Amino acid sequence: MRFVVVWADWNGYDIYIFMRKCYEQILKLRRCVVLPGLINSHTHLYQNLLKGLSPGLPLVPWCNQVLFPALDVLRKGMKKHGSRLAYLWTALATNERIRGGVASCVDMDAVSPEILRAWQEIGFRGVLAYTLANKWVPPELRASEESMKQQVLEFVQAYHHPYELTTVFVAPSTLFLCSDDFLLWAGEQARKYDLGMQIHLAEISGEVDDQKEVTGHTPVEHLQYLGLLNSRLSAVHCVHLGDHDIELMAKAGVQAVHCPKSNMKLADGAAPIVRMREAGIPVGLGTDGCASNDLLDMWEEMRAAVLLARVSTGRAEAMMPREAFQMATVDAARVSRLDAGELQPGKLADIAVLELQGIHLQPFNDQDLLNMLVFCARASDVRDTIINGVTVMRNRRLTHVDEAALVDEVEAIQAEVANQYSEESHYSKESTR
Ligand SMILES: [Zn+2]
Repeated sequence: MRFVVVWADWNGYDIYIFMRKCYEQILKLRRCVVLPGLINSHTHLYQNLLKGLSPGLPLVPWCNQVLFPALDVLRKGMKKHGSRLAYLWTALATNERIRGGVASCVDMDAVSPEILRAWQEIGFRGVLAYTLANKWVPPELRASEESMKQQVLEFVQAYHHPYELTTVFVAPSTLFLCSDDFLLWAGEQARKYDLGMQIHLAEISGEVDDQKEVTGHTPVEHLQYLGLLNSRLSAVHCVHLGDHDIELMAKAGVQAVHCPKSNMKLADGAAPIVRMREAGIPVGLGTDGCASNDLLDMWEEMRAAVLLARVSTGRAEAMMPREAFQMATVDAARVSRLDAGELQPGKLADIAVLELQGIHLQPFNDQDLLNMLVFCARASDVRDTIINGVTVMRNRRLTHVDEAALVDEVEAIQAEVANQYSEESHYSKESTR
């Protein structure tokens, strides 16, 4: 019998008090590892219906040829199927996460309260980062600025419960999708309601060039100029940063989110994660959406983070597996503003139990557990997932949702979505402004 606890701060007695419901179950484990539930710091669940559809394109053509047509299809789908469509993509994506030991995520999305209701029903801990955009996105694909402002505040009132399963962020999508006034409004709401704020930042070099041309600032400097660089902010991607940008972010207490597979798929480049971490910036790990990944697998993402850091710096010691694990747990919890990511008394009771029976884990070398797990474990090795003290997957069976019925329903709609998607005309904007 082997019962291994990876996290050094584990205290069995206190966990027993805190996690009374799961204590017996944990004791019965054989050849398992108990870990804090993983946290996906950035994703877009609506893209779950777009797996495997996108060709090899960089960001701007990808938006025009993949994302905007997809948004149009989903918008039409919502008209036909109502909010059920949002429930379906959320439930599907959430199940994939739970199966991989992910207990919470930050979902940059906008469209429907069904997303939050699905999380509550399934028992998943979700942060809805309400997406704001008032330029560049074709007008027919976005709500009016006034209705976005009204709806985000309604979401805050209804679903921002920091000690329960759902919370809300404001999320201006990018600098080139939001006017300065809209960004300032978002920053003001974040302060007023004590919310996190998430933004895509410096993902491509063109964004930096355009920002400099218009304002004379880099994207990070422009946020500083607007007074929006602060500890509420998590900046996603951060691929094209200079030393001054990193210095400003570190000084202001900004968190970053690293999405290595998405950055590689869209050929954005390699984010200077090692330099950011050395400067003291907490960096959470995220998958980004399925249109640019296409999996929601945090085990793959941890491996990709380590490998990309090493190949981009030319240093084999640039990132160690334990650092990637920290990015998927402790640092991701900071990004998500959740008191989670550690198996410690008092922390939110989110747990993943990994089974060590798989042939790909043999022989199991436990001299450096995180080295072994980050390089060898798969999402399918997760046997149980516990969120908020409740077992949402036991012996690989989801406890709160009929997965087979869900997949049947999604398949019926997916054929329609895929057909419409292939018929959509492409949008043709070229500039990032
Ligand atoms: Zn994203």
